[in-house]
Amino acid sequence: MSSILEPSAVAKEFNYLKTLSPKQTIVDSRIEQNEIHLFLEPLVDPQCPSCGKTTNRIHDFHERVVRDIDFEGFKVFLHVKMRRVRCPCGCVGRERIDWLGKRLRITDRMVAYAQSLLASGMTVSAVSRQLKLDWDLIKKLNLWRLRSGLTQQKSEP
Ligand SMILES: [Zn+2]
Repeated sequence: MSSILEPSAVAKEFNYLKTLSPKQTIVDSRIEQNEIHLFLEPLVDPQCPSCGKTTNRIHDFHERVVRDIDFEGFKVFLHVKMRRVRCPCGCVGRERIDWLGKRLRITDRMVAYAQSLLASGMTVSAVSRQLKLDWDLIKKLNLWRLRSGLTQQKSEP
């Protein structure tokens, strides 16, 4: 199988990513087999997770690798440079990324996509196979989906 991606397709993905993440930029990219790896670095100072103030006092960095929704048949992996702040308020903690709300190895929009497939009636196994994601992860997403459905029903008059 060819793993050469059209330059126009790469440009499209970069634009696509900009809408996902205006606070990050792509500093490097790699195509391996059927995978695209994009390396992201932040463009703006992080916010303290405790007091919410923007700070430039960085304690340390680490890389988080998350899977995003597929692009042109390729699996997309984002290597996100995450910062730990040392805020004047006394907090030492990890910055939050808008589109990585869940403590999972996938982006929020991948969560939403998997849940939309489950909502359409696909089984956990079928979604797991189609997205090539762990069965356990899809099972968890399905439980969350069902639970939030129940909560919504309860709050309806
Ligand atoms: Zn703070």
